[in-house]
Amino acid sequence: MNQTSTVAQRLTAVRERVESAAHAAGRSPDDVRVLLATKTLDADVVRTALELPEAAGMLRGENRVQELVAKGPALADLTVETHLIGPLQSNKVNAALRWAGCIESVASVDLGRRLSERVPAGSTLDVMVQVNVSGEPTKHGVVPEDALDLAVQIAGLPGLRLLGFMTVGANSPEADLVRTGYARLADIRDRTIAEGVATATELSMGMSGDLELAVAEGATLVRVGTAVFGPRQVR
Ligand SMILES: *Cc1c(COP(=O)(O)O)cnc(C)c1O
Repeated sequence: MNQTSTVAQRLTAVRERVESAAHAAGRSPDDVRVLLATKTLDADVVRTALELPEAAGMLRGENRVQELVAKGPALADLTVETHLIGPLQSNKVNAALRWAGCIESVASVDLGRRLSERVPAGSTLDVMVQVNVSGEPTKHGVVPEDALDLAVQIAGLPGLRLLGFMTVGANSPEADLVRTGYARLADIRDRTIAEGVATATELSMGMSGDLELAVAEGATLVRVGTAVFGPRQVR
């Protein structure tokens, strides 16, 4: 079996996992989109995957601005929506703005302000607030207690549109623990909408190993890498 047909089959398998998780939760599968996390993959591999009919409607996510920039020109003709899903240093804001349509990793008002200042007049940048629901010290994101305040501030900055929230779930075999974190993100989202930020509907949560738990708690965007591309080479 060649590699492309493997990727095609895995894309289908991911879609089926999302569908059955949505059905199990009494949700419409159409309300859960799939983002392909393409970190460490070369642009030609990314292109081949995204051009497959099995990837129709899927998004692309990069963790590192460096990779966004490196692959950007080679993928510029694709209409696939591209998100930054890793931390953004303030000196790389311009590069991120150039190659990503949404920054999922906004975790400070300072970064929000910098983005707001650089958005070209008359246009809007989509952002999400990243929350560290697990409290694991290695994880990026605002603490849950401060997430609502931050979200309201970000939503008020000119040129930014707050689409919702992103998290990387707990790295734990205990499903209850992982689910509790996702439920917490959903609660933050609901309270943000109740505060009047009507655009903040998205919940970007769930990865290859736990997307069912995230869909059960309301994920609208799951981010998968290894389930489609196989184990990553360590760089
Ligand atoms: C790599 C990555 C993913 C995908 O992880 P897999 O376990 O490979 O599915 C999702 N979200 C973020 C932020 C990532 O860096």
